[in-house]
This record gives sequence, structure tokens and C-alpha cells, in this order.
Amino acid sequence: MEAGFVGLGAMGHAMAANLVRAGHTVRVWNRSPQKAEDLVAAGAKLAASPAEAARAGVVLTMLAHDDALRDVIEGDDGVLAGLPPGGLHVSASTISYELSQALEARHAERGQAYVAAPVFGRPEAARAAKLFVAAAGADDQIARVQPLFDAIGQRTFRLGERPSAANLVKLCGNFMIMCAVEAMAEAMTLAGKGGVEPKVMLELLTGTLFGAPVYSIYGDILVEDRFRPAGFTAPLGLKDMRLAGAAAETLRAPMPFLGVLRDHLLQAIAVEGEDVDWSAIALAVRRNAGI
Ligand code: NAP
Repeated sequence: MEAGFVGLGAMGHAMAANLVRAGHTVRVWNRSPQKAEDLVAAGAKLAASPAEAARAGVVLTMLAHDDALRDVIEGDDGVLAGLPPGGLHVSASTISYELSQALEARHAERGQAYVAAPVFGRPEAARAAKLFVAAAGADDQIARVQPLFDAIGQRTFRLGERPSAANLVKLCGNFMIMCAVEAMAEAMTLAGKGGVEPKVMLELLTGTLFGAPVYSIYGDILVEDRFRPAGFTAPLGLKDMRLAGAAAETLRAPMPFLGVLRDHLLQAIAVEGEDVDWSAIALAVRRNAGI
């Protein structure tokens, strides 16, 4: 099928490449156009603007944050202007609950459809077409783009008719990942200071009660100190904790762990720099323990 793809960062580039590989006709656009070059060489069409990408009738967006998505949505060259009536915008970025609700209304005003489909999985999962897609919106609209989801992911979860539900689930998921990393970092620091090899402890824990992928994937990163190059940068992680906090305020749901995660992310960025992986909160934990 024909689709536009806006946002060719670490995630978007890999997702668009898989759409091209699966035989879809993809109109790509990125703020920094050089990131589209190899995709065009592989068969994608270069769109001159987000509006032109959206004229395909179906457009996926994968941008860094709320402001970036707003920038490609608005104006004469934006997605809202380019998408024809009956067209569908699939928003895959991790954005705020509030912006997702606003987008639902803006598209409806123009007779356009909107599906929120944030994804779980790091860039390596994106490259391997192994993402998990968390989709919410009208059933028929999700069915319309299922072939695209099949090309980028291993499974699509449907989370109901309200698109913002998917954004909420994505923020909850990232909050839980950070909690798992924080818990492992604290436990490994404690064990390490007591003379226990973190790798040995991780083998026991992941081989018994903690057999979930989040513990083995991030546990290995912590054991091997693989904080660069970042799969997911600490500033983007901080953005997600802030978005979870905003939704928690809107919905009146206290989340006291969030404050700890936010401060450790800030500390990791301040000490290590903007390019470090979000799992580098472990370095903040270690530093506070004198390591
Ligand atoms: P990234 O590599 O930093 O890419 C960000 C993209 O947003 C780039 O295409 C960038 O364009 C574009 N962008 C930023 N500001 C813009 C603006 N003002 N106007 C237009 N375009 C703008 O980020 P990523 O890792 O691909 O993440 C993308 C989204 O996926 C984020 O919402 C992130 O939270 C989410 N996510 C990431 C992961 C992960 O592990 N990385 C996993 C799941 C979900 P330029 O190329 O011109 O800078």
C-alpha cells in the first residue's frame, strides 16, 4: 500500500526501511534530508514536505517529542493540511496523553482519522522488524494499516477506541522499564559493594523469578556498562518521565517513584552528557554509593 513516513531518526529510519523492504510505496520526509538518501536509493520516494508525505492518504509520524510532532503537523506544509479527508494519521512517537487527545479532535474536525500507535522496542528491534505496536483508535482504521504494522513489528496490541489510551500505556511501560533499571542498579550496587559479582547475581535472578526480557536486556547493559552509543537517550527518557508525570497530574494519580527516576536521569545527563543511554541512571546510583 502507499503511505507517507515523517521522521527518520533512530527508530523512524529503521521502520521506514522495513516498510520499503516489505514492498510498500513509501513517501519519506525528514527535517534533515540526508537521512532519507539511502531509503530513496532503496526505492522510497522523497517527499518535499510533511504535507506531501501525508497526501499519500495514510501517513505515519515518528518524531522525537510533542514539539517536533506539532512542527510537522501545523502550517501549509504540515500533515493536517496535506492529509485528504478520509485520510489517516498514525502517530507512533511517544507523545503526551494531552497532545494525543488534541490530535484526535483536530483530525476529526477535518474528516480525517487518527490512530495512536506508539511502539515498544529499541532501534535494534526496529531494524529487525520486531517492535510491539500498541495501537488505539477505530477498529477499521487499525485494520486499514495492519499490513504496515506487520512490516515493522512482531505483534500489534489493540488498546481500544480512544487513541490516547495507547499513549498512556506507552508512558506506563517506559515508567516500568525505568523502575526495573533503578531496582537492578540499586541491587547490583549493594551486592557489588558486598563483594558479589553483579553478573552472577543477574544470572540467578533472570534464571528464576526475574525471567522477563526487561531484566535480561537491561541487566546485560548494566553488567557490561554499555551506556554508549545510546539506544534510547537519557534526555528522551527524561521527556517520557515528564509526560508520565503530566498525565499523572491530569488524572490525579500520585506516582512517587517518578521523582527518583527523574532526578537520577537528570544526574546522569548532567554528569555524563546528553548522548548517554537512559539506563545510565545506574551510574547515578553507583556514584551516590561512592563507586
Ligand atoms: P531520534 O533518533 O532523536 O529522532 C528524532 C526524530 O525527530 C528525527 O527524525 C528528528 O529530525 C525529528 N525531529 C526532532 N525535532 C524536530 C522538529 N522540531 N521538527 C521536525 N522533526 C524533528 O529519536 P528516536 O530514538 O528515533 O525516537 C523517536 C520517538 O520514538 C520518540 O518519541 C521516542 O520517545 C520514541 N521511541 C524511541 C525508542 C528508542 O529506543 N529509541 C523506542 C520506542 C519509542 P532530525 O533527523 O532532523 O534531527
